[in-house]
Amino acid sequence: MARGEARAEALVARILALEPGWTAPHAIADLGEARFDRLSEALAAEPCPLLDPDGRCRIYEDRPFVCRLIGLGMHTPAGGVIENACPIQDHFPGYADLPPVSFDLESFEEVEPTTRSPWPT
Ligand code: SF4
Repeated sequence: MARGEARAEALVARILALEPGWTAPHAIADLGEARFDRLSEALAAEPCPLLDPDGRCRIYEDRPFVCRLIGLGMHTPAGGVIENACPIQDHFPGYADLPPVSFDLESFEEVEPTTRSPWPT
């Protein structure tokens, strides 16, 4: 079993220990925002299972869309602005100087097609 896969399974086990009734597809709406926020805070110090100990993403070329957007402020379709809250700006202040990008948040509700396994071999 790939190392990243073992880490992902351990993280899922922690999530299910904290929220045993939360079943696939693990929609935030099913859990409720308050419980999702508590879960996120409880796991905030957990590194991504695909992050190597040397700080490199093991699937960088194929990383998910959300990973590609992290660090950017966004416009919503209604014209609002979602300020970036990612601490990456503390390390790369150039992000804070970028203007918000227009982004259709509803597209996040669609499942991204997967063409190959995300797990390194
Ligand atoms: S870019 Fe995404 S998949 Fe890669 S280590 Fe960071 S959070 Fe994980």
